[in-house]
Amino acid sequence: MAKRQADFIWFNGEIMPWQDATVHVMTHAIHYGSSVFEGVRAYHTPHQGTCVFRLAEHTQRLFDSAKIYRMTIPYTQEQVNQATRDIIRTNKLKSAYIRPIAFYGDIGMGLQVPFGQETELVIAAFEWGAYLGEEGLKNGVDACVTSWNRLAANTMPTGAKAGGNYLSSQLISMEARRHGYQEGIALDINGYLSEGAGENLFIIRNGVISTPPRTAAILPGITRDTVITLLAEMGYQVREENIPREALYLADEILMCGTAAEVTPVRSVDGIKVGNGGRGPITEKVQNAFFGLFDGTTEDKWGWLTPVE
Ligand code: PMP
Repeated sequence: MAKRQADFIWFNGEIMPWQDATVHVMTHAIHYGSSVFEGVRAYHTPHQGTCVFRLAEHTQRLFDSAKIYRMTIPYTQEQVNQATRDIIRTNKLKSAYIRPIAFYGDIGMGLQVPFGQETELVIAAFEWGAYLGEEGLKNGVDACVTSWNRLAANTMPTGAKAGGNYLSSQLISMEARRHGYQEGIALDINGYLSEGAGENLFIIRNGVISTPPRTAAILPGITRDTVITLLAEMGYQVREENIPREALYLADEILMCGTAAEVTPVRSVDGIKVGNGGRGPITEKVQNAFFGLFDGTTEDKWGWLTPVE
């Protein structure tokens, strides 16, 4: 039975006890990775109660991922947004990690999914702390460059957040952890920096901030966009450009960002210290601006917070 992480779960339009939300072993997505999903966070804010961060953008990306794979999610984006708020409220969560996932269920073993086949839809919400650890948020994590490259652009679309893509992420993070690192960084097939197993990357040297472009086999993260926007507010422009591996070794600061990892400094890569081996000043500023959105010290000019109530 699934490890229970909250009391209730939203499954195909119904809120049901966590342990009742089960699927058949012949579920298409188990065999072929035919699912698209999101990772979303909700934060407790002193001024607006519990708020979902960039809910509309996450739901849009869920539907974009589905569109790429010609999947039909039998709900509107508004229904998904409403269901997300409902499941957080029903579980009485103050802060949450939210996992909406659309997948093909028990539709037979054919790879040829019938046109118009509808997906199942699950929305889970549960408590989940700092993905790379509280210590990592403050002092940075040790990362390595993995021997696995990210997907070639003409093999599978990395811009879709599809279940199957995460076999690549698992290889990356397993190799990193086996060698004693907290996270792995992958290159694309051209040898340029791509991203972490589940995070986008920013490299800072001499005040110049760069991040791999969408063409470097990344998932264009919503946190990546948040960081670019917050940096622009502070007067920093981010260059989206191909970055060679050695830039990791020469950086003054590196940060990783994603919904799960939030904004996490990288303190070493392949055993080489990044800057002075801790959280750099620009990273700290971005982190403060990012977490400030939730404690109210950063004004939410963009309407990124959706109150649950
Ligand atoms: N890259 C990958 C491979 C990811 O899984 C994630 C997490 N969804 C990200 C980047 C960061 O994306 P976001 O900021 O939208 O969570």
